[in-house]
Amino acid sequence: MLNAEFFNAEVPPRPMGRYAHIVTLRSTEGYALFQTDGELNRTRIAAGVEDTEPMTRITLFKRKQTTPERLNGRELLRNYGVLSNSEDDKVEESCIYNVKSCKRCPDCISYGFAVGDGGSEKSKVYADTAFALTDYSVTHEVFTLNAPYEDGTMSDKGVVTSRINQQDHVKPGTIFPAVITTRDLTFNLFVYVLNNLLRTTRYGATTTRGGTVRNHVVAIILSDGEIFSNLLLTQSLYDVMRPSGTDPVAIQDAIKASTIVIPALLAQDSVRDQQVLMGADLNAFLNDVRGMSEEQLASVLSEAGEDAKRYFNSYIAKVPKGKK
Ligand SMILES: [Zn+2]
Repeated sequence: MLNAEFFNAEVPPRPMGRYAHIVTLRSTEGYALFQTDGELNRTRIAAGVEDTEPMTRITLFKRKQTTPERLNGRELLRNYGVLSNSEDDKVEESCIYNVKSCKRCPDCISYGFAVGDGGSEKSKVYADTAFALTDYSVTHEVFTLNAPYEDGTMSDKGVVTSRINQQDHVKPGTIFPAVITTRDLTFNLFVYVLNNLLRTTRYGATTTRGGTVRNHVVAIILSDGEIFSNLLLTQSLYDVMRPSGTDPVAIQDAIKASTIVIPALLAQDSVRDQQVLMGADLNAFLNDVRGMSEEQLASVLSEAGEDAKRYFNSYIAKVPKGKK
């Protein structure tokens, strides 16, 4: 089980160096659209650490990953009465995403906020750009979307239309290894962030169709500092797996490879790991989180709400002397 004692009893005002890393393989389960215009974001970079042959990888920016997770969490908080329902931005407790921060809810305290004149709170959840495990040539597909006329053809009175649009999609089964790091959260706030990750399945430009992603958590690591990056994890997985040509990589094979790669990468880091939860122990813990009853979830969320409020009362509401 995850060592709950590792986490702070209260969110501290200054960094305490208690890091919890959630190592995840994000895998698309449909055609995903991660960009708003026609082109996917991509970069050219060495395939692996050992295999230095350059390859093109689709990239998934930080906000594309965290925004849907935050919105999912906020929905849950509202559902369980932890987040104010008020849409009135004059109400002190109202918290409206990207419009007004209440500064006291689990979302504001965990993921941070910035308000024009009312100060800011640094995010305690770190995410970074994720890179596709395999090459662009096998991870994307261009769809031509045409808008035919009412008779089903592309011509009107003999004139052929140009109502054709091209969209670049990420193919199903594309894997984006990603480390999500939380710093100095309480156990309840950590479970809140983890639960958001486990619950979120829709990423990308459209929220109603496509973009389904499953987050396979392969390790939770508690340590006194930051561990390896997304890119190093991706390249190291590539070295172990050496995916060939145009074949997709099975998620189960990537999960298996991660059990070799993660301990090897941790051995190279210069941080001290308090706990590395993987395999059967990790799955038992994740099943407990997923299997929470409504009462258990309500209690975790309300305690996370209390933790956030306590931090607000101690360090945000109370302006220290001499500071304005
Ligand atoms: Zn808030």
